[in-house]
Amino acid sequence: MARIQAIRGMNDILPDQTPIWQYLESTVRRVFRSYGYQEIRMPIVEQTELFKRSIGEVTDIVEKEMYTFEDRNGDSLTLRPEGTAGCVRAAEEHGLLFNQTQKLWYAGPMFRHERPQKGRYRQFHQLGVECFGMTGPDIDAELLLMTARLWRVLGLDSHVTLQLNSLGTPEARGAYRDALVGYLKQHEDRLDEDSRRRLTTNPLRVLDSKDSQTQAILADAPVLTDFLDDLSREHFAGLRTLLDAAGIPYTVNPRLVRGLDYYGKTVFEWVTDSLGAQGTVCAGGRYDGLVEQLGGKPTPGVGFAMGVERLILLLETVGSVPAGVNNDADVYLIAMGDEAGRKAFLLAESLRSSFPEASVVCHTGGGSFKSQMKKADRSSAKVALVLGEDELANASVTVKPLRDDRQQATVQLDALADVLKEFLGQGQADADNELRL
Ligand code: ATP
Ligand code: MG
Repeated sequence: MARIQAIRGMNDILPDQTPIWQYLESTVRRVFRSYGYQEIRMPIVEQTELFKRSIGEVTDIVEKEMYTFEDRNGDSLTLRPEGTAGCVRAAEEHGLLFNQTQKLWYAGPMFRHERPQKGRYRQFHQLGVECFGMTGPDIDAELLLMTARLWRVLGLDSHVTLQLNSLGTPEARGAYRDALVGYLKQHEDRLDEDSRRRLTTNPLRVLDSKDSQTQAILADAPVLTDFLDDLSREHFAGLRTLLDAAGIPYTVNPRLVRGLDYYGKTVFEWVTDSLGAQGTVCAGGRYDGLVEQLGGKPTPGVGFAMGVERLILLLETVGSVPAGVNNDADVYLIAMGDEAGRKAFLLAESLRSSFPEASVVCHTGGGSFKSQMKKADRSSAKVALVLGEDELANASVTVKPLRDDRQQATVQLDALADVLKEFLGQGQADADNELRL
């Protein structure tokens, strides 16, 4: 029978990859926590209408990328393509917004029907942050300081740069849109096909075109910055002052518009040139109109999302994965005979109590001494503990170093904890726990 395979663009994350995922996730969690941000978890499926109303009907995501289906009640549901809409929906629904400020983060899979390639998948993962109730620009700056710190902690700071822009108010953007369309219309016949279509649907997105002839035309196009309203201009200047004071370098990119309709004022992207075309690892901005647009009271918002797969690719590409990020065991227990097997099981339990941070693997599944030793070696454990008849008779254990040329030695049980400390280098061994057979 034909084998059933995973869906194109939806990846299994296998055990040799999970340590780096865990490392990234726990590092991000720690950094977010250090700024006082709290985790929120939303469902993966929402009503289709939520995304249409927030992201915008004529965006790439809503037009052609959503996984939308009818459930058994005939309701139109969609696998979330991003986290902001659901986060706003949840915060509003549970009364987290009225007269309050919130600093929230979330993590999880997102779904977009795009052409799969390196750094672009149909199920991918984001780590996102959303802040509500603050008009900024201090909160905008805090988000950028927090991401900058994260890059430092991850050893990525010399591989990413910050691009910044202000989109102004909807009115300012409207005036700019008219000027841009007026200009592009004069060159319509030389625009690429996508851009010609966007000219009538979502003209600001023409600025994102990768087509070189379109880019050449854009070189002389009106610039959004010249259309900004005074408040947005002030807000942007305030943000830049805070970033300058904190020593966070950035480039102002007046063509940065982002692909989602809800953004206004601040938008930003952290980009790398180490990953080819999929170079944006983190993107976000301000969306002061979104809560109201979704039926809530007017509430300012600002946030960002990081692409986990792209960050992992970057960590691997630039060689910034710490040595300890792996599946290696610390101790591997080997036993010869049924009685020794039972004792090894109990000793392993007792070791886990004494060394709570260590990975203690007890051999299961039987086999000869040689085959058990082979498994011990493959586990990358630093040390094997062998229990045979002699050891049982003497309440001792044979300690076999696996990664250096220290001699193997048979030690009494009451000396074992101290011997293991030399291998595990752990100060945190629980001194109150007595090792037992
Ligand atoms: P891109 O321009 O690369 O398509 P985007 O503007 O659609 O990105 P956002 O919606 O802002 O991306 O999502 C934030 C981040 O999530 C991106 O910067 C990227 O790191 C990641 N991301 C977006 N789409 C994908 C995808 N299909 N596969 C993997 N990561 C993605
Ligand atoms: Mg996209």
